[in-house]
This record gives sequence, C-alpha cells and structure tokens, in this order.
Amino acid sequence: MRDTTTITNTKGSALLSGLGYGAIAAIVNYFLAFEIYGSLTVIFGQVFVLLALFTRGLLAAMVSALLAALAISIYTDNVFFFVTLLSEVAVVHYLYQRRIPILVADLIYWCVFGMPFSYLYVPTVIDVPQSFLFLILAKLLMNGLLYTALAILLYQLLPRRWKLTTMTPVSDTLRGRIFYLSFLCIIISSLCFSFLFTVRSTQQAEQQIVSDIGSKANSLRQVTEDFVDDYVVAVRNLRDSMERVSDYEEKLMLMDYTQRNFPGFVTMLWSDAQGTILHGVPVASFSAAFNRMQESPSISDRDYFLMPKASGQGYVSSAFRGRAIGEQPIIAISAPYHRNNRFAGIIEGSLDIPELVRLVQRTDIDPRFQSVIVTDNEHQVIFATEDTALAPLSYYEPTYARNPYSLILPLTRIQQRDVLYTQRMNDYGWNIYVFSSPQEMTDLFLGNILILALFLSIITALFAVVTRRFAHELNRPLEQLVAQLGDPTNVPDLPSRADVTREVRALTDNLIAARKVMVDFNHQLQQQVEEQTADLARLNERLNKLAREDDLTGLLNRRTFDELAEQGYHEAMATRGHIALILADIDHFKRINDTMGHPVGDACLRCVGQLIQQHFASKGCLCARYGGEEFAMFVTDIDDVHAMVTDFQQALSQSCEVQGQVVPMSISMGVVEIKQHFSGESFRRLVAHADKLLYESKDAGRNRITIEQL
Ligand code: GH3
Ligand code: MG
Ligand code: MG
Repeated sequence: MRDTTTITNTKGSALLSGLGYGAIAAIVNYFLAFEIYGSLTVIFGQVFVLLALFTRGLLAAMVSALLAALAISIYTDNVFFFVTLLSEVAVVHYLYQRRIPILVADLIYWCVFGMPFSYLYVPTVIDVPQSFLFLILAKLLMNGLLYTALAILLYQLLPRRWKLTTMTPVSDTLRGRIFYLSFLCIIISSLCFSFLFTVRSTQQAEQQIVSDIGSKANSLRQVTEDFVDDYVVAVRNLRDSMERVSDYEEKLMLMDYTQRNFPGFVTMLWSDAQGTILHGVPVASFSAAFNRMQESPSISDRDYFLMPKASGQGYVSSAFRGRAIGEQPIIAISAPYHRNNRFAGIIEGSLDIPELVRLVQRTDIDPRFQSVIVTDNEHQVIFATEDTALAPLSYYEPTYARNPYSLILPLTRIQQRDVLYTQRMNDYGWNIYVFSSPQEMTDLFLGNILILALFLSIITALFAVVTRRFAHELNRPLEQLVAQLGDPTNVPDLPSRADVTREVRALTDNLIAARKVMVDFNHQLQQQVEEQTADLARLNERLNKLAREDDLTGLLNRRTFDELAEQGYHEAMATRGHIALILADIDHFKRINDTMGHPVGDACLRCVGQLIQQHFASKGCLCARYGGEEFAMFVTDIDDVHAMVTDFQQALSQSCEVQGQVVPMSISMGVVEIKQHFSGESFRRLVAHADKLLYESKDAGRNRITIEQL
C-alpha cells in the first residue's frame, strides 16, 4: 500500500518541480542581480537550480537552469549564461555521482571548464584589457562558489519530504561533517563580505575618480576661461585707449606697450576699415613680413576682421594657424575700432597657444592616470597631453564605447586604451576633457580578490585545524567509552578532565547505569540457570532412582535387577568368576497383613529390605525387591554363600520391630551357586532354576534354604 501523500519522483513531477524552481531562479536572476561594475553581474538564481538538483535530480535541475539562464540572458543581453549555467549543473551532477563534495565539484567545474570557456568567450563580446578579463573570471568563480555554498546550506534547512533524491553526506566521520558545514558558513560569510566590500570600495574608487577628474576639469575650464578673458579685456582696453588718443605715434606706443605687457600675444595688429593692416607689433616681425610682400597685407577675408565689423562686438576666433607672421597655432582676439562713431577698423591680438599649453601644464595632472585634451569650439585640439598623440589643431571628439567598468563615467578610447572621462565646456565653447584609466579600479578589485583568496586560505587552514581538534575532543571520550564498555569486566573510567562535555558525561553515566543493569541481569540469569540446572539434575537423579529402585525398600526393582544381574552373570561367565543367585520369599506374609494390618506389613517389608542391605548390598551384591514379599540377590565373589544366607535368615527371625513389638518372620530361599563351571545357560533359566529351588524350600515346610551348586 502506498501512502497517498507521498510524491514520487517521476519524470512528470521532476519536470514540474524543475519549472517551479526555475521560475524562482529566473525571478531572482532577473530582479535581484546586482552589478559590481558594468560587466560584473552577480546572480543568485543558481541557488534554486542547485536545490532542484539536490532534491529532484538532474532533469528538474536542467529545466530550472534553462529558465534561470533565459532570465539572466535577457538581463545581460548575452547568451553566455546559457552555456555556463547548464554545463555547471551537468558537471556538478556528474562529479557528485563520483562522490566528490558539491563545493569541490563546483570549484573543479569553474577551474576546468567555466573559467577557460569564459576566458575564450568574453573577449569576443566585450573588448576589455587582460586584467579586466581576469576580474570577470574571478567574479564568476566567487559567484559560483557563493551560490553553491548557499544552496548546500539551504538544502539542510529544507523539509525532509521535499527531498525526493537525497544527498549522501560528504563524509561519514563526525569530523568531516563538522568541518564541511562550518567551512560552508565561513565561505558564505566571507564571500558575501568580500562582495559587499568590493562593491563598496569600487564604488568609492569610482567616486574618487569622478571627483578627482571632475575637479581637474573644472579648474582647467576656469583657467582657460580666465586666460582668454584677460586677453579679451586687454584688446578691449587697447582699443578704448586708441580711440581716446588722437596722436598716431601715441597709438603705436600703446600697441607696443600692450603687446609687451601681455606676452601671450605673439603679435597685435591695427587695420583700417578695409582690412588693410595699418600697424603691427612687434614691429620687427611685421616689417620683415611686409618686406617679403609686394603690397600692404590685407586681413579683409579673416573672420577676426569680418565678425567685429559686422557685429560691432569683440570676437574670439577658433584656433588656426598663423599666416603672415610665424605659423604657430593661434587664437585671434579682435575688437572693432571706431572713429567719430563709425567703424574704422579692428584691433587684433594673436594669442599664442603654446603659451596656453604652458599654463595648463602648471596644473597638477598625474600623467600615469590622467590625460587631458582641450579643444576649441570647432573640436580642434588646442592642448593635449603627450600620451594622446594628438597634434595641435587636429580634430578630436570622444567616440562612444560600451562601458564595462563604470556606471557613472562615460568610456572612450585613446590610443587603443580604454579610458573613463569627464567633459566641461568653457564660455568660449571650448571642450575640456580629463581622462582617467580604469586601471585604478581594476587594480583595486584584483587587490581585493587577492586579499580574499589569502583570507579564505588562512581561514580554511585554521578551520581544518580547529574542527579537527574539536571533533577529536568530541569523539575521543565516545571512542574511549565504546572501548571500555566493550569489556564487561572493566569499570568504565571517564576521563575526569574538565574538557569532557556535559552531554558526554551524561551519556557515560547512562551507559554505565545501563551496563550495570545488564550485568546484574546477566548475573541473576546465570544464577537462576545454575540453580535450575542443579534442581534438574537432582530431579533426574531422583527419577533415575525411581526408575531403578523400589520405593518401599530402597532396593533395586525387578527390571533393573534383571538387567544388572544378567550383565554381571555374563561378565562372570567370561572371567569364570564365582556367583550365586538367591531368591527369597517371606513365609505366610499374608497372615501378617491380615492380622496386623497393611501398614505393619509395609514396615516389615522395609525392615527386611534394611536387613538385605546390611547382609548383601553392603558386600557388593545386587539386591532387589523381586515381587510383593519376594527378594532377589545376585552375589559375586563371595566364598561362603551358604554362611551368608544363613546369617541373614537368622537375623530376620528376631530383628523386625514394629510399634515396639518384634514381629517374628521367617523366609524361604532358593540359591543357585556357580563356581567356574558355567554351562552357558541363560540368565532367565538361572532365575527359573532359583525359583524352583525356592519352591522346593516352601514345599519342604518353609523357613529353609535350598542350595544347588552347578
Ligand atoms: P507362603 O508362605 O506360601 O508364601 O504364604 P504367603 O501368605 O506369604 O503367600 P501368598 O502368596 O498367599 O500371599 C502373599 C501376600 O503378601 C499377599 C499380599 O497381601 C502380601 N503382600 C504383597 N505385597 C505386599 C505389600 O507391599 N505390602 C503388604 N502389607 N502386603 C503385601
Ligand atoms: Mg510370595
Ligand atoms: Mg510368602
């Protein structure tokens, strides 16, 4: 009969429970996954997949792994987990069948298959440096160990009726089990701790980088803006001053003075309303240039001329390469020049970019981790640190790259390197980019993992020693007890040391008490058996005796006598010994009964029995009550049989006293004596012969002995 509430692990029910576990796993994977960096997703759904494996077997686990993998694949937009999660279940199952502990099996899986596969596969999906790839592998391993350990612990907590397939304990020794369970607890707590620690510290590192490069970008924005502002003000002031003075020479002196006060201006010029240069400083540079050219150079096509002319406002150009005087990259700052409130030309200063670069270089940028690029409003490089290999005036805009490192900062690539960056724009539309290598974060993470690995190894070793000792201490008193209780003569002697636990003490006391009861019981039983055996022996003896003897006289009974006497007769026949068979019958015994009563008759028979004992049995003869008042004696090796029987006959006549009165009795006997000459006749014939002689004595008047020697 089968209990109706029992669920059997059929294919159908395995499939169903697989779907159940899988649904939970999928929900956990999809909604509770968390990310350390962009590409380091930590999942816990596999806990339920493994529980399906432990409680419902491989089929259920595969079904749930499929659901779990589906969820995480949708979450990460990647089929990677289909391979790892499913193969993990299969390999762990296979190894577990070969009696390898689950946690070790999972470790083997990740080392032999999971990590090598990921090492080959991950670079085909995301382009990350080697060190980051190692991070991904380490995360996978840690994640795998964590959810496996969690699953094993949870399994212990599941109700028994859920476990249709049972896991055999990892070890059959107490020490092994204590070690494994406490090791699981340590693994789980240290992995959880290290994940939290890693997440926190990488977030902190990320924040650190954000604020670090952010503040650098801010200060660069400010510095460049202030720098240009200063020069803009310088040009405006010069223009104002030149408008105010009327003397031409004085105007030229003002220009010269300004250019020398603002060394960032590589040149300054003054043009008329048509864009023809009226004057330039330094004069030496301009006169050299003018000499090279045929006519007075015109700037009428330049933005820095056209823009102020059109707008009546000051103008700051994008970066460009100088044309007439020197070819270094410059920025033109110009302001319209008026006379009588009419446009009469421009004042322009060419801002030397290398001067700006010198300025930027005075800020504190760590070249190991930080690169800087400053571009103008047209994305032309004004300044770039050397590692970017960007020439001045080249075009730069950051390209988007998928970011596996950071959730806050964007990622781009410079010179084939992944870099996180931040961007600012100053009032002139200049872009300031400050970059930072993710190396800092990756290094931190790898460092954390190394610390964790070290920590775990030390904890494992420590635990192995401690649990070994602990289990040993737990086991030793038990082993001693088992050994001592095995020998029942031994009085168990519990180690009286303080480190024996109360439970072991109680157990010992109980065992000792139980053994005492058992030993006492055994003892009692043994005594009883001995007593009963003795009783039985006595009884047997009595029974034997009863079977052999006559109750009233204590002489042999007729059957026993016949047996023994026949034996004796044959022995004597063989040795040609000397024997005699005597049959004796009390005379007129009926009268004694009749006159004195049966009890007196019995007493007389007892008395005759005693006399026969004295006269015959004491001399080694076989004596029996042969009938009611008839007796038989078989005599061996008695020389004078005649004297013997005569003595008896005489003793009988006066010896029996009953109730203080001598009862006179006489007895008749028939004796057959054989001395050496055995004719070979049977014992039965011998008895018949003696009987015949007894009757001859009776017939002859009683109280007689008839002896015949053969
Ligand atoms: P005889 O001289 O011819 O032998 O005469 P008898 O009376 O002795 O012989 P008989 O055979 O006539 O009688 C034997 C008597 O012995 C009969 C019986 O009552 C008595 N007797 C036999 N066994 C017992 C016994 O166990 N107890 C008592 N009290 N009497 C017994
Ligand atoms: Mg008789
Ligand atoms: Mg008689």
